[in-house]
Amino acid sequence: MQYYSLNQQSPRVTFKEATIRGQAPDKGLYFPERLPRLDKKWIDSIRDRSTASIAFDVIQPYVGNDIPEDDLRRIVAETVDFPSPLVPVSENIFALELFHGPTLAFKDTGARFMSRCLGYFARERSEKITVLAATSGDTGGAVANGFYGVEGVDVVILYPSGKVSAVQEKQLTTLGKNVQALEVNGTFDDCQQMVKQAFTDDSLQTKRMLTSANSINVARWLPQQFYYFFAFRQWSENEHPPVFCVPSGNFGNICAGILSHISGLPAAHFIAACNINDVVPRYLQSGNYEVRKAKTTLSNAMDVGNPSNFVRVLQLFNNNFADLTSLLSGYTITDEETKATIRRVNRENGYLTDPHGAVGFLSLERYLKEHPHQKGIFLETAHPVKFYDVVEPVTGEKVPIPPAIEAMLQLPKQSIQIEPVYPALKEYLEQTAG
Ligand SMILES: *Cc1c(COP(=O)(O)O)cnc(C)c1O
Repeated sequence: MQYYSLNQQSPRVTFKEATIRGQAPDKGLYFPERLPRLDKKWIDSIRDRSTASIAFDVIQPYVGNDIPEDDLRRIVAETVDFPSPLVPVSENIFALELFHGPTLAFKDTGARFMSRCLGYFARERSEKITVLAATSGDTGGAVANGFYGVEGVDVVILYPSGKVSAVQEKQLTTLGKNVQALEVNGTFDDCQQMVKQAFTDDSLQTKRMLTSANSINVARWLPQQFYYFFAFRQWSENEHPPVFCVPSGNFGNICAGILSHISGLPAAHFIAACNINDVVPRYLQSGNYEVRKAKTTLSNAMDVGNPSNFVRVLQLFNNNFADLTSLLSGYTITDEETKATIRRVNRENGYLTDPHGAVGFLSLERYLKEHPHQKGIFLETAHPVKFYDVVEPVTGEKVPIPPAIEAMLQLPKQSIQIEPVYPALKEYLEQTAG
């Protein structure tokens, strides 16, 4: 499989090169030159297949010859070795729980797959690869955990001191080994700025091969299709293909869902569930795409003003607005509605959502009110304990901490404090190179 840049100004590359580069040289996102199809027989017999074999069949055409079959089967099996249960919440609404991975958010799937692919490609090189990432929360934990112990790869994560949750900070700073957390005396924007500068610093790149692990990397984007198939494998409402409702920020997750549908996954409709950072729902209503500055909300992993993966969604519909809007709707949910939904669903249905899942639940409920003969799945993208500071005051109940997290919270934090300026990062990266 070859990948082209959506900006059309860069040469085509294979899966391997797209994974190592992340972004094309013309700053465009890589996109597969053709979309694989899974035939109907394969879909009809999905219940007879293991999750690892489903994942392998889905991803193999995208990887092509860049990873031999046995290695890819191992990578995929390790990626999906935790459950993604489909849990009934109400008569017509189900939760697809994507928080059973090591860092309790759906980003584990993409990060685990990408890290193992990059680890495989690093073995063929003499030089180490350094993954450099800035995080405002969930990405850093998933990336750090995914790459932990992967040979040939060093991980350096920058996070803003005092601005990530307690659980998130421990996820970044207690691993050690090949994962180093840099605690930046500044904001997330400072961290991101410093990382961006490192990627354009040629003199640094001669000393250290840097790559990014952000959500536009094809090796993070494409494996997110897996759990849409896992959801369908558990779907027993055979007369209704499911409506999929996806809490969306950068639109990588929902884009993977739409891609799986184009490849053959039965789905009645897709819903982009957004907080007040709702460029896409507005666009779907009006046809005007207006980028805005991100506003802070309770569902902070979706505080994105200009979703980077939305160009891929448009490409999946060949930029045809009518086709796009017949498959995809958007909803905007405020923080007040988010809190009221967490409270109501906990009380009436006995199901505790995190703030992102609550945005998903309420969006799906609104859609189903207008389409009463359908049933749907919302993606529960994070464990509520990651946002206990939001959830507990709303429900008045303590969120039980899973034992693995409890143990992690006891470990000592290990970070290096640095000032929020590029030379501080450069100095660190040069001194620790080689
Ligand atoms: C990252 C994240 C999202 C948004 O996913 P996108 O792929 O960026 O749309 C939603 N919920 C949680 C908990 C996240 O961490």
